[in-house]
Amino acid sequence: MREQLEILASLQEVDREIREKNLTKDALLAELNKAQGELHAQEAEMATLRAEWAEKDKLRQEKERMLQEEGRKATDKRMRLNRVKNIKELQALQREIDQIKESNAQVEEELMRILEELEASGSALKAKGEEVTKLEGACGEKRTRIEAELAGIERAMMEASKSRQAIAAQLNGELIERYELIFSRRGGVAVVEVSEGICQGCHMNIPPQLWNEIIRNERLIFCPSCHRILYHKPAASSDKRV
Ligand SMILES: [Zn+2]
Repeated sequence: MREQLEILASLQEVDREIREKNLTKDALLAELNKAQGELHAQEAEMATLRAEWAEKDKLRQEKERMLQEEGRKATDKRMRLNRVKNIKELQALQREIDQIKESNAQVEEELMRILEELEASGSALKAKGEEVTKLEGACGEKRTRIEAELAGIERAMMEASKSRQAIAAQLNGELIERYELIFSRRGGVAVVEVSEGICQGCHMNIPPQLWNEIIRNERLIFCPSCHRILYHKPAASSDKRV
């Protein structure tokens, strides 16, 4: 049993390395996802700003077209002034021309306001564009770095998985199964040494009778409080039989 438990402890070392690598891998992937999420959010904001700008620009074109059309009408009416036959017709025509002037002044005012908004919208879009470009660069660098780190982790995990297979081949299948269950439930620590009568997994005192059994190493013994597999390395400490 002692030999099996020592092999099991070395299996756990490899498993802990694999577990560590997996955690690092998850953290790196989360970091990459976060960076990409931020980039996408900024890109979406830029798309909104661009749409707002386009909307304003459309409005500008509309107002300019209105001004042109009304300008043509006014010119036409002014030409008709030369051909009026009586004062009544003249007054009517003059009134129409005044109305056009008045409405044009209003459209011009609106156009000015739109041009100002368009300018502000344009600078906001430009600033966002620069921000997005910067973020794209940073995100690209991050991706390159993380992908290289992930490749390194994958290689190390392949190696670890090979040594795990070699170690596991020396162990009893049922023992591995029990170990794996505890490993997953107990935060990656399933087999622990007992040192000076204390479980190194949960730091509780082991009852003296059980301690003696652990030293004899004849059967599988679990910690009464944390339920991990207990083992004892005789040369490792100054443990004495109680
Ligand atoms: Zn314990």
